[in-house]
Amino acid sequence: MQAFCWNDQQLQQAVHGQRLNAEAGRRTFDKVGTDSRAVDAQSLFVAICGERFDAHQFLQQVVSAGVAVLLISNQQAWADIADSIELIQQPAVILVKDTRIALADFARWHRQQMPLKKLIAVTGSNGKTTTKTMLAQVFAEAGQTLATEGNLNNDFGVPRTLLKIRPEDEYAIIEMGANHPEEIRYLTNIAEPDITLITNVAGAHLEGFGSLQGVVETKGEIIEGLNPQTGVAIFNADMPGLDFWLQRSKEIGLQSVKLFAKKAEQTSPENDYEMVYFADVNTQNGGIDFSLQVNQLEPVQVTMPILGEHNAMNAAAVCQVALSAGLPMPQIVKALAQFSGVPGRLQQSKIRCGLLLDDSYNANPESVKAGLAAVAALPGCSIACLGAMAELGKFTESGHADVAKFAAQVGVDALLVYGEAAQQMPKIYQHELQTNAALREQQSSAFAEHDQLNQQLDQLLQQWSGQQCEQINVLVKGSRSSEMERVAQFLRENW
Ligand code: ATP
Ligand code: MG
Repeated sequence: MQAFCWNDQQLQQAVHGQRLNAEAGRRTFDKVGTDSRAVDAQSLFVAICGERFDAHQFLQQVVSAGVAVLLISNQQAWADIADSIELIQQPAVILVKDTRIALADFARWHRQQMPLKKLIAVTGSNGKTTTKTMLAQVFAEAGQTLATEGNLNNDFGVPRTLLKIRPEDEYAIIEMGANHPEEIRYLTNIAEPDITLITNVAGAHLEGFGSLQGVVETKGEIIEGLNPQTGVAIFNADMPGLDFWLQRSKEIGLQSVKLFAKKAEQTSPENDYEMVYFADVNTQNGGIDFSLQVNQLEPVQVTMPILGEHNAMNAAAVCQVALSAGLPMPQIVKALAQFSGVPGRLQQSKIRCGLLLDDSYNANPESVKAGLAAVAALPGCSIACLGAMAELGKFTESGHADVAKFAAQVGVDALLVYGEAAQQMPKIYQHELQTNAALREQQSSAFAEHDQLNQQLDQLLQQWSGQQCEQINVLVKGSRSSEMERVAQFLRENW
């Protein structure tokens, strides 16, 4: 197989740029970087003007690293160093107005050149990375698949992921994230997906969106990158945004819309849309089993080695995407059965007293509730260690209150919280318990230091393991800024 590379001329045409030092000749490259410390002789360096610094100040450094091509928006920055560099040592320099947009243009052009069978774009408030990883595993059974690495889902991550597509790839799974309106529109118009998925909507990043409707509308932008004749949009039918998304699909003349949902008793068998339902979720042996039903067909039983009803929902979404791409059901179910999760997202590991559910990667009210439901569904006692949730803006108080109530309602046996915004949660949790006399006395406290929380947790585990509980399962979750991995680590080291 021939090694893949681009040349400066292709780049120049794709970004409508101006070649500054044509006399230096042609250059080829096979990597694209925005970090001046991570480029080499095979790289294009894109000089981005960020909020904190302007990468044009590192041009000398990247030229010394032997970079092949420079994409810049500040002509003077190049002029300042050009004379001191011999022609043969010079990278090909291309000038554009805005390097961020040029990176997007190059990624779009490249994506259009690649003979992919399907490009799948995933957005939603929660579960993008989980679903993307599940999709990558399912599609890998059908053909070579490229997926977003980690969580690189923004205006730099998406173009750079697209630029990793190679001619031999058959499928690409692209995660798209947003904190503000218009961001998903920008990303979907770069990626030009064949299939789009909205996993769900919830009160994530409400600070930037203003309201849940703002979230619904922004996630809905994803369909705008589809070709109305050939594209497929997949929505979660249990979400409050459904009507809006269906309306938007009509407005843009989209021919194919498919849904997934939880099958409820009263779900009517007729439906205008192709459906994948999930139902009968049971938690056992550290995993879930449930059924998936495609339209009116016989339900198929699925077992997955991960926890949480929300993961059955993610699996239903994945199933609908994979069916839309023509994958056969047995292949989908087989791949789902081998999915063991994503680090930091409800990852289970054994501790002395039971299971640790490490969900310390991040948090918003809906994902915390999903975690609480998962830990409460396990056999034995449950303890939730929750860090404060960030980026909720004016919903900070109500978001924390809502989660505290939910913890009591699903029967979590102890609630230990960390962080300023979480301080009222124990009170609300206790109050909810009192109004529901069926629940026994529970433990709940708030802490300003991780160490104090860890100490209390340690005491509780010692006390309970000597007494009533055969198995004690601990959920650890919070926003990134709450650093709840310190609690998870404490448990791993001591329990
Ligand atoms: P980010 O916005 O940080 O990229 P994401 O949308 O990629 O997040 P994940 O990283 O997959 O989401 O999961 C984040 C949290 O949401 C985890 O705690 C995970 O367990 C939970 N989660 C995953 N799927 C769902 C779902 N369908 N509904 C609610 N919570 C979910
Ligand atoms: Mg993610």
